[in-house]
Amino acid sequence: MCGIVGYVGNKNAQNFLVSGLKRLEYRGYDSAGVVTLDQEGNATLIRAKGKIANLESCMAKKKRDDVIGIGHTRWATHGEPSEANAHPHKAGSIYLVHNGIIENYKELKSQLKNHDFKSDTDTEVLAALIESFYQDGKHPLVNAVVQALKLVKGTYGIAVVSEKNPEEIVVARSGSPLVVGIGKDETLIASDASALIGHTKRAIYLKDGEVAKVSKDSIEVKTLNAEPVSAKVEEIETNLAAIQKGGYDHFLLKEIMEQPESLAETLRGRVDTKNNLVHLGGPGLSEAELRKIKHLIVVGCGTAHYAGTLASYYIEQFTPEITIETVVASEYRYRQAYIPKDSVALIVSQSGETADTLACLREIKKQGAKTIGIVNAIGSTIAREVDGGTYVHVGPEIAVASTKAFTSQVIAMVMFGITIAQAKGVKNTILRSYIEEIAKLPDEISKLLNSDIPNAVKTMTQKYAKYEHGIYLGRDVAYPTAMEGALKMKEISYLDANAYAFGELKHGPLALVDDRFFEVVLLPKGALYEKAISNVQEVLARGGHVIVITNEEHFDLPVDDIVKITTDLEIFAPIIMNVISQLFAYNMAVAKGNNVDQPRNLAKSVTVE
Ligand code: GLU
Repeated sequence: MCGIVGYVGNKNAQNFLVSGLKRLEYRGYDSAGVVTLDQEGNATLIRAKGKIANLESCMAKKKRDDVIGIGHTRWATHGEPSEANAHPHKAGSIYLVHNGIIENYKELKSQLKNHDFKSDTDTEVLAALIESFYQDGKHPLVNAVVQALKLVKGTYGIAVVSEKNPEEIVVARSGSPLVVGIGKDETLIASDASALIGHTKRAIYLKDGEVAKVSKDSIEVKTLNAEPVSAKVEEIETNLAAIQKGGYDHFLLKEIMEQPESLAETLRGRVDTKNNLVHLGGPGLSEAELRKIKHLIVVGCGTAHYAGTLASYYIEQFTPEITIETVVASEYRYRQAYIPKDSVALIVSQSGETADTLACLREIKKQGAKTIGIVNAIGSTIAREVDGGTYVHVGPEIAVASTKAFTSQVIAMVMFGITIAQAKGVKNTILRSYIEEIAKLPDEISKLLNSDIPNAVKTMTQKYAKYEHGIYLGRDVAYPTAMEGALKMKEISYLDANAYAFGELKHGPLALVDDRFFEVVLLPKGALYEKAISNVQEVLARGGHVIVITNEEHFDLPVDDIVKITTDLEIFAPIIMNVISQLFAYNMAVAKGNNVDQPRNLAKSVTVE
């Protein structure tokens, strides 16, 4: 799930490994380690629990000028976070770093009698398995890796070095990304291209089932079946500024604040307000195929699932002949769900690597439905495997909790819905207001972020930092928006926050309302406004501590706090309200002194199920 780096060249490997791991810190991790080899193959292994700073202090006593090595930040799946469980893992003369899960590790372990296991990890089993084929250098390392991987069930991105050959690194991937950077007299390995920025712009993105043997001046890629692959060299598109904080205290705040620009990127060249049309090239569906669509399945996890749910509320407003089902990928992949004829699936994932979502994509494809990716990471596995797609183009999202990707995912999906509606002949007058508002959204978010509201939210947050529970409430489009607001609060402030459809309140959750709870009410103007007002009264009557976020200027109930938004938007006002929820959660996390960008227990790109 977390970070892999590797280096072979003429420069100091430890330096690259540590700086590379720091670049990958944003993905969330609990321990870190590096191993480097000198020219004779003597290894220096350094591992530490906790932050990379701990690894660096251990390293201070073990500085080496070795020119080859591999490193890892671990997000524990098997075995607690500890030095012994941190990677690299050693077996005989080999060292292995691994992202992912070896599902059949127990079965394999029971057969590896010759290895004295020192950790609780599944990874060490893979190290021992590779060593059992390598036999202390009797066979080529790459062959041993391939033989081992053929027996493995699960997901992996790996890098392996051997004391017997301190000139090469073997890497492989299945379900967990790996990039090989091509430098001048050096080759760099990373699980995420951001670790390579500033070192090289040229890289090979390994595909599932591929393995590569790399030295400082050669890269040989082949499949697990020994077929040679002529791998495509691609340009790394990200630049340094995109992965730096740019003067903000946290990436999360930077990413909230850059939503006007990131959303503008999502819309670029796709929204034509003159002719009231949306043009999406990526999905690659003909007019006839779009007209035939009867059913949409929207697949995602976490924030991506809520983005899909919100988008589906919008899409069904203007595509009356379509049914839409939004599903949680980790559930859907094991359901016996029937996929109706003429279905299209929207596969939503910021990283494009989310394991459960990827599994659904593969299953849905098998059943014959067309798949459209709503992805941010260019060239990611989901982006490659879908039939067509719309990149959201928000640039690197570094904070673990998603903000700008959510906003753009919703709008990208609504634009896809409009594309279907256009093909089905839905009247331009119906679609016009959606298209016009979409075009205005970046400026409207900018207006909000440049108003007094962010400061007011910061001040307001201080009052609520003493609470342990939050309830988020909304009707219609405000309901999925409330779900995303509650998730943000949970993720970074560790507050127990949950969302309910306002109408559901008296079917249970109303029993919770007391002084331990605050209630965040998202109250957009519109058809259900009066009904929601009655619900607010019900909460107030029971002594609730209510915060209302609304664009209705005449709202005047005696609630604890009101955040009034002035916006020209009617349809997409909830997107603006969600920016307030993001700021509320951010300020809460800061007030509680939490690690805002890397919340405990979480990882950015969830490549295990
Ligand atoms: N499953 C491995 C472990 O628990 C790797 C986890 C990771 O992806 O960081 O050590």
